[in-house]
Amino acid sequence: MGGPSKSEPMTRPAELALGGEKPYPASGTTAPNYMKPRNELWGQIKNLSWTNNLLRNTKGWRDCLIEITLDGANLVYREKKSCFALVVLTPKNEKDLDAVVKLSQLEDFEVFKRSYGVNDSLDVLVPPHRRQLVLDLADSLQLNYTVKAENYKLIPDRQPRRRVFNGFNVFGYNSYSGIQDFIQGLAKKHSHLVTVEPAGTSYQGRVLNLVKISKSPQGNNPAIFVDAGIHAREWVAPAMALYLTHRLVLGADKAEELNGVDWYIMPLVNPDGYEFSRSSPANRLWRKTRSRSGLLNCYGVDGNRNYGFKWGASGTSSDPCNAETYAGPRPFSEPETAAVKNVMEKYSRRIKLYVSLHAYGQYLVYPWGYTGEFLPQGWERLDRLARKVSSAVVRAGGEPFKATSAGRWYAAAGGSDDYAFGAVGIPYSYTMELTRNYEFNFPERLLASVLPRYYEGFKAFAAQIKKEFGAKRYGKGVDVLGAGDDNNFNDTKQVI
Ligand SMILES: [Zn+2]
Repeated sequence: MGGPSKSEPMTRPAELALGGEKPYPASGTTAPNYMKPRNELWGQIKNLSWTNNLLRNTKGWRDCLIEITLDGANLVYREKKSCFALVVLTPKNEKDLDAVVKLSQLEDFEVFKRSYGVNDSLDVLVPPHRRQLVLDLADSLQLNYTVKAENYKLIPDRQPRRRVFNGFNVFGYNSYSGIQDFIQGLAKKHSHLVTVEPAGTSYQGRVLNLVKISKSPQGNNPAIFVDAGIHAREWVAPAMALYLTHRLVLGADKAEELNGVDWYIMPLVNPDGYEFSRSSPANRLWRKTRSRSGLLNCYGVDGNRNYGFKWGASGTSSDPCNAETYAGPRPFSEPETAAVKNVMEKYSRRIKLYVSLHAYGQYLVYPWGYTGEFLPQGWERLDRLARKVSSAVVRAGGEPFKATSAGRWYAAAGGSDDYAFGAVGIPYSYTMELTRNYEFNFPERLLASVLPRYYEGFKAFAAQIKKEFGAKRYGKGVDVLGAGDDNNFNDTKQVI
């Protein structure tokens, strides 16, 4: 096999952090040993009895139970969300890391945050009937864990329970209609710079708007496409997309990041899910879209498993009633993902960078997401730019991003970043997981300090795109990209 031998360094936190040694195998080679599952461990986990743990449970478990039904041979538990616990497992070495990866694949747990390396926690939301099992497994595997909240509150006290918007707060969590007003207002006031293009309609009929910001709308600049909010509960993501929009427009006179680069921003890809997550504390952690699945009374598809590149190949569920990672009945079954796809394809000749904003974990990850077995051709430049962006955020006083390939530890197919890169041929493609603490409840009061720091990262993105794809390529039709470059597949794909 082509990867490093066992005597070479294993993953270390330093390698995942900035400036560390590159831990990756060369393009197209197989994964090194440490990336392979350890079958003995899997066996160990599976051999632990599940049923013995079912009834030996959390105190008060019965109070948490709404109903138990039988689905084939399986018992299906419905329990009060307020009884779920957030368990944080922190791998201290390679063996632990394997264990947490395996644990995260067991059914009935909801992964809040993946672990991408040693000392990087796996956060799982655990229903009452599984809690004892998780803790037993953690004990038997000698994993370091904490039960972060015994009864995880869906809405912590520090976050306002109810937001009424008669306007728009650029450092706030705004309603769909507040967001619409804001972007329409910008387009009206700065019509030379901003255009709003309807890019589709959500399942429930909300308009999905694409905001285009360009100093030369008739020009031929390379473009950056940023989307946010495919996962409903990740409120900080649309907040960032809107802050980005705000800064680009208000700073347009001086902003280098707008000279020779166009920006396409879709600030809220899943407005149905977003509004649902805002509708009550019990719905705060909704992740998926709100489409209804056939005859079943189950709602929603994980939009970031619904893209048509290696769809369903890994890390997804085919059960529409499965809470979080249902990939949908077919690729692009959701009007929201189809809208993003259409934007990518419509402007594919010019889009050179795609960034999908998510939360949380403070990661900047790049393809492939569907596999950790190998990396795409040209992954080094994806990695290099991720580190540049992270450095820019750090210089502004922010926290570094962990830069890594998305599927390295947890393969999950059908993501938008893989589609942009692998199917559309956008040369730079990332998923950016904003913020590290507070899980999905990043406090509104802290937005004013973090969003401007992230903005510095977007400046670094723009500088690279301009440098690499700027006027020299588009100015007089002279194509200088390509010589020795490995990502010139933009030239061969179909433009829709
Ligand atoms: Zn997400």
